[in-house]
Amino acid sequence: MVKRIALYVLLALVAAASITAAPPIAVVIIAFFAFKIYELVYFRSAKFMAIKNRISAHIQDCNDLNDHIEELKVTHIGTDMTRRGHSDYHDNSKWNFKRSGFKKIANAPNVCNCSRIVCDGSRKDPLRYVCKYFGFKADEPTLAKFETMLNNFTAVEDGKKSLTGEKNDILASISQEVPFLIRKFSKKLLEKKLGFKDIDFSDTYYPSFKFQYVSAGGNASTENTIVMDIPNLNAMVNYLNDGIKRKKSAAGQRALMTSALRKHILERDNYTCRQCGISTYAEPHLLLEVDHIIPVSKGGMTTEDNLQVLCWRCNRTKGAKLSV
Ligand SMILES: [Zn+2]
Repeated sequence: MVKRIALYVLLALVAAASITAAPPIAVVIIAFFAFKIYELVYFRSAKFMAIKNRISAHIQDCNDLNDHIEELKVTHIGTDMTRRGHSDYHDNSKWNFKRSGFKKIANAPNVCNCSRIVCDGSRKDPLRYVCKYFGFKADEPTLAKFETMLNNFTAVEDGKKSLTGEKNDILASISQEVPFLIRKFSKKLLEKKLGFKDIDFSDTYYPSFKFQYVSAGGNASTENTIVMDIPNLNAMVNYLNDGIKRKKSAAGQRALMTSALRKHILERDNYTCRQCGISTYAEPHLLLEVDHIIPVSKGGMTTEDNLQVLCWRCNRTKGAKLSV
């Protein structure tokens, strides 16, 4: 630490000396380095360490929730082409070297290189085309996969809000003790030094399906991307269910895991975990999840009496036990 301070002092002096012709700039630079030194000293101080130690259990809880959310993001529907084996494809056509349009063709998972008619059609009727060209059948296992995805990804979205709320509450609880300058100018570093893991707010975990057309000459190209976000997942669950009903020519006996059903179960259980009894009334930023009492993987159905509200902590424990 002493070395780093010495380095900063040296840099500040060099900077100041080199721009004596422009004193206002020198003042800014010196102030910057002075602040950096202050920051360094503060984050090593006993006072800061005491705050950090006092709230470490809360931060650990936040980080556990963060890990839980990251685990939920990894919900697969089994369309990842890397699971279907490898091959080595080359297009040696001569025009391939000249026409830049072909460079856009992605040989990535979930890309369908198709005719223009198919690409345009996928725009008008996205889910039907996704099912047809990416091989999703209207059957119970497929439907269940999309329902799980909807359920888990909604928990991720809710979880991000819970996590932000919980983190802000923790930061607010110590704001009186942390110096103003640190709170104002070192917010990110403060969070890091306290031990918070970064929250990933991106939604790149939503699977997406791309239809891509490139003309024979390579000049014309269109593409259409369908992202399986929450609205599309709701639509997909209903679409697959309609397909199943048509085949069976009888209405399905079970409920559909949609956003509407999740909301209904949360209201029915009064936003209270059926395992440990904690509720959003007691913990406003609590992440609640809708859980199958008998898991789908063990033959459990999506019926109201097989669904319950669990807090993320209980659901995480249950998941860990089941996977052993
Ligand atoms: Zn619980």
